[in-house]
Amino acid sequence: MADAPRSTPGREITTGERRRKAWANWSGAVRGIADSLLSPATTDELREIVLDDAARARGIGVVGSGHSYADLVAPAGRTLLDLRHHRGIDTVDPAAMTVTVRAGTTMRELNQELAAAGYALPNQSAIDEQTVAGVVATATHGSSPGLGTLSSHVVAARVLTADGRVRTVTRDDPELDGVRVHLGCLGVVLDLTFTVVPGHRLRKVVHRKPLPEVLADLGAFRDVHFGGFWWYPHTSQAIVWEASPTDEPPTPPPARPGALLSLLCNNSWTPRIAGAAHYAAAVAAGRGGARVLRRDDALLHHLPPPVQGTEYSVPFDRAADAIRALVGEVRRGGLRVSAPVDVRFTAADTGWLSPSRQSPTCHIGVTHPVSAHDPQGWIAPLRAADSVLWEFDGRPHWAKVHFRTGRELASRYPEWDRFQELRRTWDPDGVFLGAHLRRLFEH
Ligand SMILES: Cc1cc2nc3c(=O)[nH]c(=O)nc-3n(C[C@H](O)[C@H](O)[C@H](O)COP(=O)(O)OP(=O)(O)OC[C@H]3O[C@@H](n4cnc5c(N)ncnc54)[C@H](O)[C@@H]3O)c2cc1C
Repeated sequence: MADAPRSTPGREITTGERRRKAWANWSGAVRGIADSLLSPATTDELREIVLDDAARARGIGVVGSGHSYADLVAPAGRTLLDLRHHRGIDTVDPAAMTVTVRAGTTMRELNQELAAAGYALPNQSAIDEQTVAGVVATATHGSSPGLGTLSSHVVAARVLTADGRVRTVTRDDPELDGVRVHLGCLGVVLDLTFTVVPGHRLRKVVHRKPLPEVLADLGAFRDVHFGGFWWYPHTSQAIVWEASPTDEPPTPPPARPGALLSLLCNNSWTPRIAGAAHYAAAVAAGRGGARVLRRDDALLHHLPPPVQGTEYSVPFDRAADAIRALVGEVRRGGLRVSAPVDVRFTAADTGWLSPSRQSPTCHIGVTHPVSAHDPQGWIAPLRAADSVLWEFDGRPHWAKVHFRTGRELASRYPEWDRFQELRRTWDPDGVFLGAHLRRLFEH
């Protein structure tokens, strides 16, 4: 289709004077050359592109801020839409306690605007660089065992579908549970309405604890407002953190980890050296003490250097055993984990493709640095982690790397077929279905 006439409207993104069609995710491990990368200014321009025959034949993908490790955007050869001109809050409704926000708004922008108005989202992921539509696409979760994924806080959405219609889905529509985790394949999400809460500060406490003790008392996490822990691989050390609402005055934010601490935490060294480095890093991190911060700031983690990651959501009741199995695999030498393993919790929710669907969940995240010397070096450790965690009824994070077939995934999602039916109804020609999802959905 490369010779097809270029009638595609929209504003082509340029870097300096050069047209930019190369797209890469945040870690640089997922990349490809799109047919075009457009940033339309209006819904009418978006619709023109969606109805353009040549663009439809090539396939159309929407990019967020590229923070998925999985190839969800699937750039190669497609027309990519960047919603950077669709940003900002449309309305805050104090009676309904909701905010309606345009899809290309980043979480950081939304959090800042909400905080200025005295509100906050109920929960927050570990970073805030993502767009709101990207976060919802993949059931991004936060750090509260009492709350579902961030997708669960969506009460309405407007989606431009493949037939050029704008569909509004609200709490009264059963499809909302499909749209909650849309994976970018239902159409162009235009805006989303989320529930909000009053913008309390959080008091966050960080301390070091032996991992076996943390696992023996894992049930204690069911009762925290927000919390989780990091296991420092090749050691028995965990850094546990908890946060709860407070009226105490704010404290200064924690310093960003220096280059040395970052290197100690994220490296590709041999297990013995990595263990010593992780021990030193855990001792330093364990001195974190207590801070009082804006709600979203308290829940953010520092952005690591470029990594690829896998993450499994396992039922809460199986979490301690799953983590013990991961530790055992590392001890046996079957798995070289070079960065702290992130463990957090989520309540059951209702999204058809939510990894937390109908089960209180423990999220176990394993990352590996992406290095120019060994660009494929992350694959073996993440594959090993995937093999261990799959055995504990885990569902892999949609945005992260996994090694499962569509058939396997379908067996873990009771509403899989319902989602496929919704997708085929809204996009019968698969215009929005990129190569990665096509492999999973057309098994
Ligand atoms: C350092 C780091 C920390 C992270 N922390 C967490 C965490 O704490 N919890 C967690 O669960 N996840 C976490 N993630 C994963 C992250 O939240 C997801 O990858 C999220 O989907 C990224 O959003 P994005 O805007 O970058 O979207 P992208 O990665 O660019 O795209 C993701 C999907 O959204 C679709 N999409 C984006 N915008 C639209 C739109 N307007 N309409 C239709 N489809 C659209 C894309 O097509 C694609 O399918 C983390 C990732 C990184 C790199």
